[in-house]
Amino acid sequence: MRYDTIIIGAGMSGLSAGVRLAYYEKKVCILERHSTIGGLNSFYRLRNRNFDVGLHAVTNYAEPGTRQGPLSKLLRQLRLSWEDFDLRPQLMSSIVFPGCTLQFTNDFAFFSEQVAAAFPDQVAGFRELLQRIDSHDPLNLERTPKSARMVVEECIPDPLLVDMLFCPLMFYGSATPRDMDFSQFVIMFRSIFYEGFGRPFEGIRLILKKLVRHFKSLGGHLKLRAGVRQIHQQNGRAVAVTLDDGTEIEADNVLSSAGAAETMQLLDPTVRNVTPPPGDISFVESISVLDCEPARLGHDQTIVFYCDSPRFHYERPCEPVDLRSGIICSPNNFDYSRPLEDGRIRITALADPRFWLTLPDDEYACEKQRWNERIIQGAVRHIPDFRGHVIDTDVFTPRTILRFTGHVNGCVYGAPEKFVNGRTPVHNLYLCGTDQGFLGIVGAMLSGITVANRYLLK
Ligand SMILES: Cc1cc2nc3c(=O)[nH]c(=O)nc-3n(C[C@H](O)[C@H](O)[C@H](O)COP(=O)(O)OP(=O)(O)OC[C@H]3O[C@@H](n4cnc5c(N)ncnc54)[C@H](O)[C@@H]3O)c2cc1C
Repeated sequence: MRYDTIIIGAGMSGLSAGVRLAYYEKKVCILERHSTIGGLNSFYRLRNRNFDVGLHAVTNYAEPGTRQGPLSKLLRQLRLSWEDFDLRPQLMSSIVFPGCTLQFTNDFAFFSEQVAAAFPDQVAGFRELLQRIDSHDPLNLERTPKSARMVVEECIPDPLLVDMLFCPLMFYGSATPRDMDFSQFVIMFRSIFYEGFGRPFEGIRLILKKLVRHFKSLGGHLKLRAGVRQIHQQNGRAVAVTLDDGTEIEADNVLSSAGAAETMQLLDPTVRNVTPPPGDISFVESISVLDCEPARLGHDQTIVFYCDSPRFHYERPCEPVDLRSGIICSPNNFDYSRPLEDGRIRITALADPRFWLTLPDDEYACEKQRWNERIIQGAVRHIPDFRGHVIDTDVFTPRTILRFTGHVNGCVYGAPEKFVNGRTPVHNLYLCGTDQGFLGIVGAMLSGITVANRYLLK
């Protein structure tokens, strides 16, 4: 069968693009190498328990029925309802640095008050920054990059406040070390501080299953265990793909969510342009299952972004894990009307992919356990010590991410250089997702929608 569009990858962006194209009766096939959907944001069952991979929180929270904002736009574009996502708001999150804590909810006025109380002499600068954020159009796909650090430091002289603002935004969406593009900063600032966090009671599987069901009901084809080995070109156009098992599938267009460097590797080397350098920002995540809700131990925060050193360092660490900072997420601490099946604490910290990817197989399990203990030891300086309540543990590393998504270096936010307009050197081969430049769950979905609308629904 010949398709209008082949989509490489059944992550958030690929599935969203697929729904959009299938809705407009395009013949579309999503090819996924893994045996399940979701990519960086998947789910699995282990020892009779459900685990989420990449979900701390869905950003860009909005109350059901809201007409404006990214979430409402993406639901409209996908013809899904608010109930399909079933998002419940966060309770309260915080940014904790030495000697200073800023709390935030989904009400931005509360965060502004926190900033004003902790940094009274920075209020005018903070207002100036908000004006610059409000007047910036981050969705201009032809934009040129600009240093966010430069803009923020022009407004706010206090380095502590600058670092505290950057910390959650970089952790949740920066492919570049130390600094980020101002447009990306604006997207993340709005999605985290203006709009905030939500989570479905059932976790990410609810959203993924809705997307797949919807896609199939519209006539879309989804093939799992169908890795793309090669993209064939003729006269500068992509014409077909070959799968790992040798099957060839023809299409008029190819849309890839595999990543920029990863997609270029699929092209014939004789016609391939320069491969863009991949990123190296990756994480280790420790997931502890508790015998009680974290609130029973006195921990009712949804997400804690912490940094123990005077300056926040966001870059590939020299050690296997950077223990100086991290994210503590408690999926239980959303505004649910009933308890989750068990208590969970997830702790995420920057990791050095080189260490984890080159570790001999027989040392891997032992190193995971060793670093898991150290990560938890660091985190319990900021939340009640839950170690006596752990009944199960799972840990994933850059190696896990590489294995299950194919992202070079086990990189979570893709290449530092983004292909914001979604185009590649091959005329009808497009990029969506992480390397198009919209990051995170909502970002990836909007990316799939945007690129599909712009090039494939003409
Ligand atoms: C630990 C962790 C925590 C996170 N927490 C959050 C959070 O709380 N909130 C948030 O908004 N975001 C979070 N994210 C980020 C979010 O998960 C991602 O930004 C988003 O899911 C990316 O989606 P994507 O479609 O762009 O890419 P991916 O999910 O990477 O999808 C690409 C897909 O392509 C497939 N593929 C690759 N190569 C091929 C090939 N050759 N052939 C066939 N298939 C191929 C891969 O298997 C994969 O399924 C987190 C990520 C991680 C890892």
